[in-house]
Amino acid sequence: MDNYFIKTNRTFTNIRKYGWILTVLIAIGGRWEPKLGLLVVFIMAGLTGVSFFTGRYWCGNICPHGSLFDSVIAPISRNKKIPKLFKNKVFGAIFLIFFAWSFSNKIIKISPLWGTFDFLDKLGFIFSNTYLVVLIVGGIFALAINSRTWCQFCPMGSLQKISYTAGKTVGVAKNTNVLVTIESKDKCHSCGKCSRVCPFQLTPYLDFNDNNQFDNINCIKCGTCVENCPASILSIKTEKQAIELKENTIVLGYENRQEIEAKITSIVDLGNDLREFEFTFQNPYEVNYKAGQFILVRIMDEPKQYRAYSISSYNENKRSLKVIIKKVPKGFGTELIFDNFKVGSDIILEGPMGDELVVGDDVKKVLFVANGIGITPFIALVKDVLLNRPDIEEVKLLNGQKFENEFIYDDYFRELSKEYDKFHYIPVASREENLDKGLRKGYVTNLIKELDVADYKVYMCGSKNMISDSYKILLDKGLKTSDVFYESEEKIKIENVA
Ligand SMILES: Cc1cc2nc3c(=O)[nH]c(=O)nc-3n(C[C@H](O)[C@H](O)[C@H](O)COP(=O)(O)OP(=O)(O)OC[C@H]3O[C@@H](n4cnc5c(N)ncnc54)[C@H](O)[C@@H]3O)c2cc1C
Ligand code: SF4
Ligand code: SF4
Repeated sequence: MDNYFIKTNRTFTNIRKYGWILTVLIAIGGRWEPKLGLLVVFIMAGLTGVSFFTGRYWCGNICPHGSLFDSVIAPISRNKKIPKLFKNKVFGAIFLIFFAWSFSNKIIKISPLWGTFDFLDKLGFIFSNTYLVVLIVGGIFALAINSRTWCQFCPMGSLQKISYTAGKTVGVAKNTNVLVTIESKDKCHSCGKCSRVCPFQLTPYLDFNDNNQFDNINCIKCGTCVENCPASILSIKTEKQAIELKENTIVLGYENRQEIEAKITSIVDLGNDLREFEFTFQNPYEVNYKAGQFILVRIMDEPKQYRAYSISSYNENKRSLKVIIKKVPKGFGTELIFDNFKVGSDIILEGPMGDELVVGDDVKKVLFVANGIGITPFIALVKDVLLNRPDIEEVKLLNGQKFENEFIYDDYFRELSKEYDKFHYIPVASREENLDKGLRKGYVTNLIKELDVADYKVYMCGSKNMISDSYKILLDKGLKTSDVFYESEEKIKIENVA
């Protein structure tokens, strides 16, 4: 499980990026100016107030120590599994009682000074010391285990949970609380990425409630899962907003999603760490899938987790499908697949899923754009439109790779372009010096700039950068957002490209 948890950016606002400066100021500056510690009184009031309305939102978005853990320590943390003991409720309660007892003892000791300036200095020093202890102890845990280990039993976290429970009991928090919300459970890839990037190592994808919300009192609403979900289906919403979203979400392309028992009937090594797997359906015996859809492949049972792969085969007899998988360096899932998947093995699939790359009925001219491993769905799509869509007048495929030897199914596409006048296959290599066989040097984006794309519908699959750059070029060339469709293994923010 060494490569299970993923380190990723968690600082999405300036408060989260730079809030740690306040921690250092209070904890270290308090040695010289103890009154700086009095700022903690406002911090405690703030976190208790915020949590009354919306749980541990403070921890994930405002807390200065949280900023220190996420912004400064997370990049160098060992990022290991948080021990169960630290997540234990009883442990948290005992630690809170111990903290409250030790803190009140210190306050009682200085109480005779009440009303003097000395009292303020002494009080500030107590708070500053507490901040320093959390900085040191929390910092060590953050480095050695996971950046948010301290937060599992932090007395301020427990205080927020108590305040939130009070807010819920009086009926206020129900309307004001925000939770991680999934647009539709049907669209979830069950890839577990939301859990692998979660600083608290929670499992949102396994625990969405009937309103499609992740109602876990420990969630700090940091949005890290939202930012990293490859399906872009997570957001942070109130209950009312979640219900509206659920009612208004149209789930096209997922109607036929089902669990499929299958057998691996062939594995072909395509070189460059690429393997083509054929899965033959056992139960159900036949599966309807469309070119352009993807399938989920189960990689582990506990916790249940899948990886999404574009279907690369044209569905000739509904009995099997093929996927082409690239081994990712230190990739958790592909390591399991390349080590454990053998011819004859039984596997569980889920799907078929997706409609982003399924060519619409009204399309007359189609431009397919791929780079890297993003070429795989077009192996099926090109054949599908050539065989089944006589109404489509023009089909172009731009295929960008780095080197000549990375072009898989190259002969297949070249043969089809000879067979069908309306199909144009344009391979382009960014780093290849040997430009035989009509190979061009450059990127697919260079080619898009040269093309006349008027009246085309464009379907893209590949890297985030290629898709967002191509998107901009296509819109500049006059296409509308409704003319361009894409799929990527990484989340693409449409607002960045529109
Ligand atoms: C709709 C869809 C279709 C897809 N189709 C295909 C396809 O046809 N073929 C294909 O090969 N793939 C495809 N993918 C990608 C595939 O689903 C997997 O994401 C891919 O196989 C990698 O899985 P993994 O578990 O090995 O990698 P992961 O372990 O999930 O790693 C993913 C990325 O995170 C990085 N990472 C991992 N651990 C850490 C860490 N500790 N710190 C920092 N970074 C880290 C890795 O370097 C890698 O870049 C598709 C994805 C989607 C969403
Ligand atoms: S990250 Fe993966 S498992 Fe989590 S909600 Fe998104 S698609 Fe589903
Ligand atoms: S579930 Fe999401 S929002 Fe909640 S703590 Fe984990 S990553 Fe943050």
